[in-house]
Amino acid sequence: MHNYCINKLLDLKEVKIKNIIHADSFVKIFIETKAKTHTCPSCGAKTNKVHDYRQQTIRDLPFQMKDCYLILRKRRYRCACGKRFSEKYDFLAHYQQRTTRLTKYIVNELRQSVTLKTVARRANVSATTVARILDTIHYTCPSLKEAISIDEFKGNAETGKYQCILVNPKQRSIMDILPNRSQAHLASYFKEINRSERYRVKYFVCDMWQPYVDLAHSFFPNAQVIIDKYHFVRQVTWAIENVRKRLQKSMTATMRKYYKRSHKLILARYKQLENRDKKACDIMLLYNDDLRKAHMLKEWFYDICQNTKYSIQRTEFYEWIRNAESSGIKEFEKCAATYRYWSNEILNAFKYGITNGSTEGFNNKIKVLKRTSYGIHNFERFRTRILHSCN
Ligand SMILES: [Zn+2]
Repeated sequence: MHNYCINKLLDLKEVKIKNIIHADSFVKIFIETKAKTHTCPSCGAKTNKVHDYRQQTIRDLPFQMKDCYLILRKRRYRCACGKRFSEKYDFLAHYQQRTTRLTKYIVNELRQSVTLKTVARRANVSATTVARILDTIHYTCPSLKEAISIDEFKGNAETGKYQCILVNPKQRSIMDILPNRSQAHLASYFKEINRSERYRVKYFVCDMWQPYVDLAHSFFPNAQVIIDKYHFVRQVTWAIENVRKRLQKSMTATMRKYYKRSHKLILARYKQLENRDKKACDIMLLYNDDLRKAHMLKEWFYDICQNTKYSIQRTEFYEWIRNAESSGIKEFEKCAATYRYWSNEILNAFKYGITNGSTEGFNNKIKVLKRTSYGIHNFERFRTRILHSCN
């Protein structure tokens, strides 16, 4: 009865438990299987002649917080043709010293943002074993869908400071992680994807980096290029922040501190501020013509972004650019020049409403993974772990 329960707990089919040793830190379970007729792998004849037994120690899933070892009495058979061969077991892959389910457990633990060492400790194997298992996991790029977005993140991998992340913005899934963002590398990567697949892509989302747009035109000729909303809105945020910083320089120390502390009031949507904060914001703007004008432009631009009618967004966008260009505020003149240069691609963002929003979430996960995976310099492993834990 006792053995029956342990058998159920162990959940290995056709295994007999002969003995169990419980120690403080480990459990050893001695097992063997029933002898049966086998087919010789060499000549195909049937045999049930036992040649000999060997004891093999197999690591298994941790059991009751203890390291667990299965001590298997491994049977070898002998065939009339002279061939000697071992029994096959469902729970044990060929030439492995751990159960299949322990390998699965390790593969699954690798989805978490923890170090290889931590996984190794949890599974009672060496970090080298975990690394070797990690190297057997392979992800290929899924086929392209109608929308694709590209962004970079600072991965500090062996292949360069910046890595690229390809996302399917509609499905919100990572498609691939590329070792670097150089145009040559990206070109050779996209070249590998067959033409008909590339020609199906209708939307290509990226930031304001010319090489991305050039790549889009050459490899995805049927795609509308869209500048990601976060990336162009950020320009307005930077502009008003720079205006504030410039004005602060000519202020008294007390005033400077006040403006520095309250800079969030200027950045926030005015209509969403509490009355008290609105007043504080009003006072800050009252004494600074440039900041007041900058604030007006910022609020106006946010309104354009939130407008739901494309024709209005388009008209107002150009009107906004003209206003910013003649505002006399150099930070906004610069912003307006950028917007004018990228106007078609920015308007596409309004028109099609596709953003790179999900990428930001992935980037945060990557950041955590990067921090906890201190020691992953190997790009392939880094890529596998990102794809493994995000999809
Ligand atoms: Zn044989």
